[in-house]
Amino acid sequence: TTEERIANERISSIFDLAAGVAHELGNPLNSINIHLQLMRRQLSRLGREPATEKIKSSLEACTNEVQRLDGIITHFLQAIRPQPPDLRETDLIETLYDVLNLQGPELHNLNIHVDVEVRADLPPVMADPEQLKQVFFNITKNAMEAMDAGGDLKITAHADDDYVTLIFADTGVGISQQDLPRVFQPYYTSKSGGHGLGMMVVQRIMRDHGGQIGIDSKPGTGTVISLRFPQRHRRMRMLESR
Ligand code: ADP
Ligand code: MG
Repeated sequence: TTEERIANERISSIFDLAAGVAHELGNPLNSINIHLQLMRRQLSRLGREPATEKIKSSLEACTNEVQRLDGIITHFLQAIRPQPPDLRETDLIETLYDVLNLQGPELHNLNIHVDVEVRADLPPVMADPEQLKQVFFNITKNAMEAMDAGGDLKITAHADDDYVTLIFADTGVGISQQDLPRVFQPYYTSKSGGHGLGMMVVQRIMRDHGGQIGIDSKPGTGTVISLRFPQRHRRMRMLESR
C-alpha cells in the first residue's frame, strides 16, 4: 500500500543517514584505538607501581569498549547496507558445518546437543556461501542464547520439486504469540545485551536469495525456524517471469 511505501521510504532515508554517521564514527574510533595502544606501550616501560597498574587496567577497559563500539558499528552497517549475494552452487550442509564447527566449543560449554539429520542426496542451491554462514550463525546463536541451561538443537533438511528446506528446532525458552511477529523488526530484542538486528539480517538475506523464512514457537517448549531455498530450475523460472 501507499502507506507502507511511504513508511519504507522514511525508514530507508533514516537508515542512509544513520549509515553515514556510523561510517564517520570509524575514523575517530580508529584514532582512539591507536592512541590507547601508544599509551599502553609507554606504560609498559614504567615500573610495576600500583598507580601504573591502575592506569593499565583502565586502558584495558577503554580498549574493550572501543572494540565493542567497533562491533556495534560493523554489525549495524552490515544490517542496513546489504551486499547483493554472489550466487554460486552451494552445498547447504557443508556451509552449515562450517558454522557449527566454529561454534563447537560454545555449544559444548552450554551443554547443547546438536543433531543434524540430512538425506545424502540433498541438492545444492544457488547461494552466497558467506551470506549463508551469516544466516546460520545468527540462527544458531539465537538458539544458544535461548538454551543457556542446555538443550537440543535439531537440524533437518529435505527437498521437494520446488524447494530445499532447512529446519532448525531448539528446545529453548521460546517466543510468545504476541512477540513472534516482532522478531524480524530492527532493534527488537528480549535480551539485555542484544542488538535486535540478527533476524532482520536473516530475513533480508533469505529474500535476496529468492527464499523464505518461517518461524514458529511455543514459550517453554522451543522454537522452529525453517528456511526455504528455491531449487535451481524454479529460480530460473522466477527470474524469467520478472
Ligand atoms: P538479538 O539476538 O540481538 O536479540 P535477533 O534479531 O537475533 O536479536 O532476535 C530478536 C529476538 O527474537 C530475540 O531477542 C529473541 O527474543 C527472539 N528470538 C530469536 N530467535 C529465538 C530463539 N531461537 N528462541 C527464542 N527467542 C528467539
Ligand atoms: Mg540474535
